[in-house]
Amino acid sequence: MDRYEMTEKESEIMRSYIKANIDRAIAENWIKAYYQPIVRAVNTRVCDEEALARWIDPEKGFLSPADFIPHLEETGLIYKLDLYVLEQTLKKMKDMKERGLDVVSHSINLSRSDFDACDIVEEIRKRVDDSGFGRDMISIEITESIIGGEFEFMKEQIDRFRDLGFPVWMDDFGSGYSSLNVLQSISFDLIKFDMSFMRRLDDGESGKVILTELMKMATNLGVDTVCEGVETESQVRFLQEIGCSKLQGYYFNKPHSYEEVLEIIRSGKLIGFENPQTSAYYESIGRVNLYDLGMVASDEANSIRHAYNTIPMGVIEFKGDNARFVRSNKSYREFIERFFGIEIASSKTEYRECNAAFIRNAQKNCCEQGMKALYDEKMSDGSVVHSFARRIGINPVDGSIAVAVAVLSISEPNEDESYADIARALATDYNTIYVVDQDTGNYTEYVSSVGEDELSKVRQGTDFFENLSKEALERIYEEDQQVFLDRCTKENILHELDEQGVFTTTYRLIDTGVPVYNNMKITRLHRGNRIIIGISTVDAQMKLREQLQKAREERTSLARIMAISEDYLSLYAIDKDTGRYLEYTSSDEYESFGFAKEGEDFFLQGVLDGKKVVCPEDLPKYLEGFTKENVLREIQENGAFKLHYRLMLERGPHPVTLKIVSFNEGKEHQLLASVRAWQIRK
Ligand code: C2E
Ligand code: MG
Ligand code: MG
Repeated sequence: MDRYEMTEKESEIMRSYIKANIDRAIAENWIKAYYQPIVRAVNTRVCDEEALARWIDPEKGFLSPADFIPHLEETGLIYKLDLYVLEQTLKKMKDMKERGLDVVSHSINLSRSDFDACDIVEEIRKRVDDSGFGRDMISIEITESIIGGEFEFMKEQIDRFRDLGFPVWMDDFGSGYSSLNVLQSISFDLIKFDMSFMRRLDDGESGKVILTELMKMATNLGVDTVCEGVETESQVRFLQEIGCSKLQGYYFNKPHSYEEVLEIIRSGKLIGFENPQTSAYYESIGRVNLYDLGMVASDEANSIRHAYNTIPMGVIEFKGDNARFVRSNKSYREFIERFFGIEIASSKTEYRECNAAFIRNAQKNCCEQGMKALYDEKMSDGSVVHSFARRIGINPVDGSIAVAVAVLSISEPNEDESYADIARALATDYNTIYVVDQDTGNYTEYVSSVGEDELSKVRQGTDFFENLSKEALERIYEEDQQVFLDRCTKENILHELDEQGVFTTTYRLIDTGVPVYNNMKITRLHRGNRIIIGISTVDAQMKLREQLQKAREERTSLARIMAISEDYLSLYAIDKDTGRYLEYTSSDEYESFGFAKEGEDFFLQGVLDGKKVVCPEDLPKYLEGFTKENVLREIQENGAFKLHYRLMLERGPHPVTLKIVSFNEGKEHQLLASVRAWQIRK
C-alpha cells in the first residue's frame, strides 16, 4: 500500500475516530464487504470468493483495511466488523442464489481479538446455520500471526471450526517466522501463500525452488493451496505447473463490491463460475505435481535428461474422441511441440480431435482399461517414447476423463529396432514381411513364428527381386504368373512407389494344391532406402471381415476382435464374474468337437472339454494352468493369459495357444478367449 506513514499523532486521531464510529459505520453501511474471486488453477473458473472489508467514510473517504483494521484489533472491536462482514456475505450469497447465479463458497478473515471478545466460533455457526447455507460454504481465514503465543488455545478453536464443518485456511503463509511450526501442529484445509512469494518469484531461481518445494509439501500433507497477489501471466503459468490449486490476484480480478460484481455479470465480463459438482474432479487434477520426480528411477531416465531438464508431465482431459491438455510443464510442452507440432499453451482450453497415437494410447490404456498404464509409443521419426499414465478422475457432469501422463524416456531412432517394431505392428495383418534394401536387393524375411503373436526374423538373403520372379514361377497359380512377372519388376515397383507411395498386387498361390488368394503390399520405410513388403492371404482377411461383421451384429466392439489375431480356431466372450460364456465363432475343425456354443461356467467347461481333446501328454500342464485364479492373475500381471498345448485335431495332434485378455464393454467386465492354431511351415 503506497500510503504515507502516519505520524503517531495522526494515528492516534484515527484510532479514536474509528473506535467512536464503528457502530455508526456498521449501522449506516459505511462498512462494505468487497469480494475478490479465487480461481481454480486448472480451469481458471471462480471456485471461491474472499470477503474483504472496506470503510467508505462520509468525511474521510475510502479507507482500506490498513487504516482501520489495526485500530479495531487493538480496541477489541474487530469482532463487530467481522460478524458484520459475514452477515453481508451471507446476504450476498442468498441474493445471488435468488437471482439464479452460481454460488461458490466464500472465505472471511478473522483477527486474534475476535476470539477474546466473544465465542466467535459459536457466533459464526449461528449465523451460517440460520442462513440455510452449508457450513462448508464459509471458509475461515486465519493468519499465522493470530496463533502466536497461545498455541493451545488457538488450536482448540481451529479444531472446533473444523469439527463443525467449516474449512479453515491458513492465511499469509510464509509471512512470519513460525509458519512451518504452526503447520506441523495444526491441521488446515488450505494454505494461502503470502503474496511476498510472488514478488520473489522474479528475483531469481531460488524463489521458484522454494515455492515448488513448499507446494510439494502441501500436496503431501493433502492440503489445498492458494497463491495470493498473482499479477502476471507468467506467474499463472508457473503456479499451474507446480500444482498450486487456486489463484488469487489482480491478474484475475481486484476486490469488488457486490453492486460492481452484478454490473460485471451484466456486462458479461465475469470469469465463469465453476459448477460445484465438478469441484472434486478439478481438485484432483490440480493436485498433480508436475515437478515430482519421485516416481521415476533416477539413473534410468537416460537420454531424456539431455533434452529436458524435468520429466515431461501433463494432464490430458478426454471427452469422446477429443482431448485437451489441461496442465503441462515446460518440458511436456516442448515434447509435444517437437513430436506433434502442437503448441499446448494456445490450445489448452479447447478440445481438439486427437489422432496422435501417443495421446490415443494414454486414453486407451487408462481410460478404457484401468487406472494405470506403462506403454511404449513409436514416434514418426523412429524414436520410441516410454510413458506412464494414470487416470485421476472422471468429471461427474460431462463424463470427461482426466489422465496424468509422464514421459519416462525417449530412445533415439534406431534402425534395427524400427524393423522389429514395424514387423510387430504388422504381425496381425501379414503372414510374411520382407524388408528389402532397394539398391542391393539384400533382404530380411519375417514370418509369424510358432505360437507367438509377433513376427520373428527367419532368414536373410540377397537378390530379392530375382528371387521374387523365381518363386513366382514355382508357387504362383499358372494363370496369374505372367501378370505377376510383368507387373512385379524392380523398375515397376520402385516407379509406383515414387508415384503413389504404395504398390499392391493380388495373385493366387498353389502351395496347398488349391489356389489361395494372396495380397502383396509394398511401401517405403520412413528412413533410408529400404522398402517393406507385406504378404497376407486374402482368405484370412475375408475371414477377419466376416468375423468383424458378426461381431458388429452382436454389437461387440472392434477392440475385442483386434485384441487377438486371425488364425483362431475358436473365440469366446466370458463374463469375468459369473463365468458365463458365449462362443462367437469357431472353425470347422473346432466345430467338429461338438462343444456347447454357450454355457454357465467357462472355466469348469474348459476343464471338462479339455480332458476330451487335449493331448494326453499335455493334459496335466493344461489342467494346472487353466484355472480361473491363474487366468485372472496372469491377466492382471501380464495383460494376458497364454497357455500352449497340443489339441487332438482331425489332422493329428496340433500345437495351439489359448489366449485370454480382459476388456471392458460398457460397464461389464468381460474376458475374451481365443484358441489359435500354430502355423507349421514345411
Ligand atoms: P489478506 O486477507 O491477506 O487479503 C489479501 C489482500 O491482498 C487484500 O488487501 C487484497 O486486496 C490484496 N490483494 C489481492 N490481490 C492482490 C494483488 O494481485 N496484488 C496486490 N498488491 N494486492 C492484492 P486488503 O483488502 O487491503 O486487505 C488487507 C488485509 O486486511 C487482509 O489481508 C486481511 O488480513 C485484513 N482484512 C481485510 N478484510 C478483513 C476483515 O473483514 N476482517 C479482518 N479481521 N481482517 C480483514
Ligand atoms: Mg485473507
Ligand atoms: Mg493473505
